Amino acid sequence: MTNQPPHSSEPITSDAIAYTGSAEDIVKRHLYEPTLPNYSESEFDAAAERIAALLERENAAIVAHYYTDPAIQKLAEMTGGIVSDSLEMARFGAAHKADTLLVAGVKFMGETAKILSPEKRVFMPTLEATCSLDLGCPIDSFSAFCDQHPDRTVVVYANTSAAVKARADWVVTSSIALDVVDYLDGLGEKIIWAPDKHLGAYVQQHTGADMLLWDSACIVHDEFKAKGIRDLKAVFPDAAVLAHPESPASVLALADRVGSTTQIIQAAAELPQEKIIVATDQGIFYKLTQLVPEKQFLIAPTGGAGATCQSCANCPWMAMNGLDNLANSLESKTNEIFVSDDLIARAVLPLQRMLDFLKAGA
Ligand code: SF4
Repeated sequence: MTNQPPHSSEPITSDAIAYTGSAEDIVKRHLYEPTLPNYSESEFDAAAERIAALLERENAAIVAHYYTDPAIQKLAEMTGGIVSDSLEMARFGAAHKADTLLVAGVKFMGETAKILSPEKRVFMPTLEATCSLDLGCPIDSFSAFCDQHPDRTVVVYANTSAAVKARADWVVTSSIALDVVDYLDGLGEKIIWAPDKHLGAYVQQHTGADMLLWDSACIVHDEFKAKGIRDLKAVFPDAAVLAHPESPASVLALADRVGSTTQIIQAAAELPQEKIIVATDQGIFYKLTQLVPEKQFLIAPTGGAGATCQSCANCPWMAMNGLDNLANSLESKTNEIFVSDDLIARAVLPLQRMLDFLKAGA
């Protein structure tokens, strides 16, 4: 069996530990349950049948992010689509022979798919699903900021609007941010980084590059608490900690590995520890438990001991993707992503630079 609580039921009594109750209770509170909580089996089966028929009719493929509902991830896999991070989503969509892409994630992912595949129709379950990083970096103020520093190379994270990408020299994802900035630093370039301040600080710390950081954060990763992780580690000292670099520096300092969602999954398989505390959105546990079923995964704390929510690591915008609106968008051709030809022509340049960089390093 996977993900069973440990056998110890010794009470946790140390004053240094914020958690109360037995080790078994504490694990239960943080344990990921590999279920499809939003859908019964029959609901999932009915939706899967309907969506599979629509995908075939429209010659479409599902491109889903790791943070979406497990039911969507399962469906993407069943129908020949992909579940991945934003980088692989973009590459898969561009390379796939489908005429239509159904992107389950947040809006910038749909826009990126359209920019890289302008000849394809791109639909999303909802156009309301956005991202605090995208919202925190409006094009007008960001462009004015860039104009104040014309000597700097503009590097933006994938979690930005098409307009912000079009203003940038480079687009990066969390999986290659370090490599790209290290490369630019080696060329002697000074950098503007946007929008995630935690990821920017992490990259700055590890490359020593001269970086001006935009001040924005992911509302999910920003909530992970170093104290909560230390308390959990006090109960389970042998557990490894994996963290996404959008988390605060105090959390990253406690991590055995820091990386993108794909790198977190790789680390979970590689590390020897059997218990793993994971600081990223809970959607990733579907893939973690699928690929590394022999290990036990604990959700890193966000709320602390007194909060009603022990871990709220669940992106509200990713959670807007469901089986119903996914099927409806394809059936009625609603929620299509449009990006102007002018924006596509400009935004594809920094995106393609990233893909070429990856290809050169492969
Ligand atoms: S988890 Fe954070 S970075 Fe990802 S879409 Fe949600 S708000 Fe944006």
